[in-house]
Amino acid sequence: MTSAGKFCALCKRPLQPATVSRLSGEGGGYKVALESIPVMACAANHMRLIGPEFVGEALDAVSKGELSGVYAANQQGFLGRRTHCGKCGFEIVNGITKNREFRTNLPLESGASMQITLSAPWIRCATCGAEQLPRVTDLPQEVINALTRAFRDAKIGIA
Ligand SMILES: [Zn+2]
Ligand SMILES: [Zn+2]
Repeated sequence: MTSAGKFCALCKRPLQPATVSRLSGEGGGYKVALESIPVMACAANHMRLIGPEFVGEALDAVSKGELSGVYAANQQGFLGRRTHCGKCGFEIVNGITKNREFRTNLPLESGASMQITLSAPWIRCATCGAEQLPRVTDLPQEVINALTRAFRDAKIGIA
């Protein structure tokens, strides 16, 4: 599994594939938790992610509606004050907000999969009943912030 030239940037020991059981981070009102995270680790337990594309894939899995199947409200008008349902398009005036978890599995090249959980305040459309994320414009950046914090707290190198 270990290819030549993969050595720890800190102590120069060889890196081996390893798995981190769980980590999480927050950004804005969003909390992102990952389980079964694939990393490369040396004998001194310095870790880094398997590849830079990994963060983007994790981001897409929760923030791209076409992949996640999650509806997200559209915000229009001055300062995005008008919120429109991502499913039926009607305006959501008094959306009921509640915290909800969205869980998905990200398949990995190794054949294993990583679990991603996004916790966020969701709103419900009174017209069609669809539950959805209230703010989509800042979702990708906040998920990136949450993931970056999670990796930093766990001392996992991203580069
Ligand atoms: Zn090391
Ligand atoms: Zn609706």
